[in-house]
Amino acid sequence: MEKMIYLDNSATTKPSEASLQKMQEALRICYGNPGSVHQAGMDAHKLLEEARRQIGASLGLRRAADGQILFCSCGTEANNQAMFGTVYAKNRPEKNGTRGKIMITEGEHPSIETAAAKLEGKGFTVHRIPTRGGALDLEDLEQATDESVILAAMMLVNNETGALYPIRAAADIIRRKSPGAHIHCDAVQGYMRVPFTPMSLGVDTLSVSAHKIYAPKGAGALYISQDTIRRKRIIPLLYGGGQEGRLRSGTENVPAIAAFGAAASEGMQEAKARAEKVRSLHDFLIPKLSGLVQINMPKFSADAIINITLPNIKSEVMLRALSAKGICVSAGSACSARAKKVSRPLLAFGLTEREADCSLRISLSCQNTEEELAIFCDALEQELHRLARMR
Ligand code: PLP
Repeated sequence: MEKMIYLDNSATTKPSEASLQKMQEALRICYGNPGSVHQAGMDAHKLLEEARRQIGASLGLRRAADGQILFCSCGTEANNQAMFGTVYAKNRPEKNGTRGKIMITEGEHPSIETAAAKLEGKGFTVHRIPTRGGALDLEDLEQATDESVILAAMMLVNNETGALYPIRAAADIIRRKSPGAHIHCDAVQGYMRVPFTPMSLGVDTLSVSAHKIYAPKGAGALYISQDTIRRKRIIPLLYGGGQEGRLRSGTENVPAIAAFGAAASEGMQEAKARAEKVRSLHDFLIPKLSGLVQINMPKFSADAIINITLPNIKSEVMLRALSAKGICVSAGSACSARAKKVSRPLLAFGLTEREADCSLRISLSCQNTEEELAIFCDALEQELHRLARMR
């Protein structure tokens, strides 16, 4: 088969050379347990702390007082830690039949949506803010927010539509109407794709994941504000040896974390060039697609993610046809693709079930080229004609 054309960079990215080299160093040379006090342990600990500084710097943390970086296994774990860890820290007894309100957006990733649904089952009220057309409904948020809100968890960039949400404006509303609420942001898809810091977004916790930024799988991080730590507004989900400031027990995955740090550092240095490259790829692709398919374009979006709806052809059929030609795109987010459920974020965007079932996500990286996109568009056009004839 010819060279693969990989256009599924929101599912995962190809690790960069710098991140792989750092991982090798950790595996081969600094293999000690970072908790051990001998030389091997200290060498591993040094790598761990270097990565913590790198991730911190990439999130704009310059002083210790700005917050803390907690390492964990992935974005899903970081989101679960934020959701359950902050809600359980409040330990609020049931009042008038309810235990407090949780705000999320209608199209959250399953790691937030399912966690919220679990809490709903335990007596918490969950309000889902509409995201029609990819716009976060701030009026609905304003109306639904009152003092009973204990947690708001909102994504920065939607993984299926690329919609970029106004987290700062939402956080300001929540702080004004429920000053005690904890505000979490799932920034997994926005990290290294759009500029932000947790402070600029006004959030208390924020999650990121290594494998979305050209590092291997196996590491994620949760930013936690100093205020949250000082006021003990988050509790651990894992108990044991007390690693990660007693918030996440378990020996840290030093090779994956070191690679994560290297990728973050590289991403910061290349941020401008990468953003320009992805923007130009986006601008190259959109006019080519617009004659072929419906583009589900939010008002504000990250350039890397483009969602399209095919004319009456199921996404799975097209996905397989393109895959046979060496082209990788996705239907639904990577985690839900095999679960065969209609995509919640696409329904929340305003698509019908049928349209959602016929939608594909193309997600770009700075490693893609215009030539690859031209080949993809030709293949898409050919398959649209071939599959239409077969109907
Ligand atoms: N949040 C969003 C918005 C995502 O897109 C993903 C993964 O696709 C996650 C969280 C989960 O990240 P991970 O795959 O590292 O668990």
